[in-house]
Amino acid sequence: MYANGKVALITGAAQGIGRAMVEELLHKGANLVLVDMNRIAGEECKASLDEQFGSHRTMFIQCDVTDQEQLKDAFQRTVEHFGRLDILVNNAGVNNEKDWEKTVEVNLISVIRGTYIGLELMSKKNGGQGGVIINMSSLAGLTPAAYQPVYSASKHGVIGFTRSIAALASIGNYGVRINTVCPAFVDTPLLESIEKEENMGEYLKYKDNIKDMMKSFGVLDPSLIAKGMVSLIEDDGANGAVMKITTSRGIHFEEFGAHQKTKV
Ligand code: NAD
Repeated sequence: MYANGKVALITGAAQGIGRAMVEELLHKGANLVLVDMNRIAGEECKASLDEQFGSHRTMFIQCDVTDQEQLKDAFQRTVEHFGRLDILVNNAGVNNEKDWEKTVEVNLISVIRGTYIGLELMSKKNGGQGGVIINMSSLAGLTPAAYQPVYSASKHGVIGFTRSIAALASIGNYGVRINTVCPAFVDTPLLESIEKEENMGEYLKYKDNIKDMMKSFGVLDPSLIAKGMVSLIEDDGANGAVMKITTSRGIHFEEFGAHQKTKV
């Protein structure tokens, strides 16, 4: 059981998929650092986890992942507090087609930066002990999303970056496995963004089309995404894998041929 006794840092951990992932890893015996820009949600989340798991198992750090210094500081504090880092989940994400530069910043640039900071700490090349990184993509990272073009582009970017850096980690013997997860619609507060002009801008007029897609594809429970992510963490043969999670097929993988999984 890889996660037992390990230290994990999850961004966007205060609610939604991130929070479900925190709970799943706590059940598996890991200690958790919850990184989120939303202080109120983060503190509430930690307080409720403390009742179930004890206050020593988690730490909350308020951090905007797009702020380079804040992000570096979150990793530094993780190592200072828990003594190590073994698992990193770059999960924080937004759906904002109006402020589309922000979408690229949060969903792609911060995932790349988080991966590089994580590798600095975990890679055996730098004297680290190895580890696992999961970068959050979306089914919209594999297919066109007509009403969310920049969200889709950012998530395509996460897949391209993750598969490439995973190949490099394998060639360079970093001892770090890097994988990505692509869920379909998941029942989290993120879905409310499609109803807001401040998020959708001129595409707000298509909100009913997106709602029709939700009805036809169904909406997943965050706990299933967390289970899929933990199975990737536990699978020591998984590197560069692109896990898909849908209501029709459950947890499965995108087939890219020989390079789908590369050795660590
Ligand atoms: P959510 O909105 O419920 O939670 C996202 C969390 O990230 C929030 O707590 C928010 O405060 C935090 N966050 C946002 N920007 C941040 C920043 N700059 N710095 C730090 N924290 C920040 O969303 P969710 O549905 O749980 O999404 C989690 C991830 O899963 C995202 O990357 C999202 O794109 C992806 N995803 C979601 C769905 C879905 O349908 N909900 C489907 C596929 C992929």
